[in-house]
Amino acid sequence: MYWHHDSYWGHVLRSGMDMGVFDGCLVAEELAYGCTGIMTAMEASGLGQTPIIIAGNKEQQKKYLGRLIDEPLVAAYGVTEPGAGSDVAGIKTRAEKKGDEWILNGQKMWITNGGVANWYFVLARTNPDPKCPASKAFTGFIVEREWPGVTPGRKEQNMGQRASDTRGITFEDVRIPKENVLIGEGAGFKIAMGAFDKTRPPVAAGATGLAQRALHEATKYSLERKTFGVPIARHQAVAFMLADMAIGVETARIAWQRAAWMVDHGQKNTVMASVAKCHASEIANKAATDAVQVFGGNGFNTEYPVEKLMRDAKIYQIYEGTSQIQRLIISREILTAATQTN
Ligand SMILES: Cc1cc2nc3c(=O)[nH]c(=O)nc-3n(C[C@H](O)[C@H](O)[C@H](O)COP(=O)(O)OP(=O)(O)OC[C@H]3O[C@@H](n4cnc5c(N)ncnc54)[C@H](O)[C@@H]3O)c2cc1C
Repeated sequence: MYWHHDSYWGHVLRSGMDMGVFDGCLVAEELAYGCTGIMTAMEASGLGQTPIIIAGNKEQQKKYLGRLIDEPLVAAYGVTEPGAGSDVAGIKTRAEKKGDEWILNGQKMWITNGGVANWYFVLARTNPDPKCPASKAFTGFIVEREWPGVTPGRKEQNMGQRASDTRGITFEDVRIPKENVLIGEGAGFKIAMGAFDKTRPPVAAGATGLAQRALHEATKYSLERKTFGVPIARHQAVAFMLADMAIGVETARIAWQRAAWMVDHGQKNTVMASVAKCHASEIANKAATDAVQVFGGNGFNTEYPVEKLMRDAKIYQIYEGTSQIQRLIISREILTAATQTN
């Protein structure tokens, strides 16, 4: 979804829209305003494509990105496992080299588009030595859904964003041709992590869209609902909740815009992408909770729009790196920069 590539094929493969991360974010925010489940399904396809956009060769880009333009197909990003999410270096899925092929075995979990993707980006351990550093121990592969040994599990029943398809995937002796290795053996960890600089801004934009929706719904309702003879908007305690939501929406939007602009202009945006993702996800949760509060008892009911927003908001603090992991990244980058200047 987010075309940003300088190579020949980058140009050839653009779907005619010539969109950078910033433009993709504008779309993500609007989609999320309507339904964040749909936004997540589309963004996860972008996340699956990003390793190929940043690290794929011309043939891989032509074959796998081209396919998504020719037909309405989606991709997925397969990194998380039942035993390892935040601690990516703890993944156990293994790939072993056998002649010109790699043999993949293992299990992924919580893969968005897991049951509907045409192909997956899969991160697997290729160096079994526990002493091998993460920067060399993992390899990134493109794995097709239709290959023998690829089995998606059942659709998970999640708290929110239920329009999005989340599944585990089992890989059993899946044969991967060497042409489907990204860059080369051992390059996978950096590719998998590098994708986030481009994909966290759209996640932040999605969370902003949800917060904007919460503000609109709460504003509308506060002018309709009367207590003590006046619309509840006339009670300052309610009006100030709307003001706080607006402060949140505007700052979350500025944060994703800066993070997206930086990456589109070739600037290192790792800190800003994490700031935007962390801030917007917390704003979305606060705005959705406050919107339920403005709706009173009605807010707690499925007949009104805001309980869905509250359920949908939570995942933003969890996927593509939890809020704790964003703080880990931000603090690490700040401290590294400070140590280098001292
Ligand atoms: C709906 C949904 C969709 C998803 N889509 C995808 C997808 O498409 N592809 C994919 O690969 N993954 C996907 N994920 C996985 C998601 O990225 C992980 O769930 C997330 O990274 C957290 O990992 P975990 O669940 O293993 O939690 P854990 O890593 O076990 O963390 C548990 C808790 O401990 C905290 N914690 C862990 N380590 C630290 C630390 N060092 N310091 C402070 N706190 C810490 C975490 O913040 C969290 O609060 C999805 C998950 C969900 C629920």
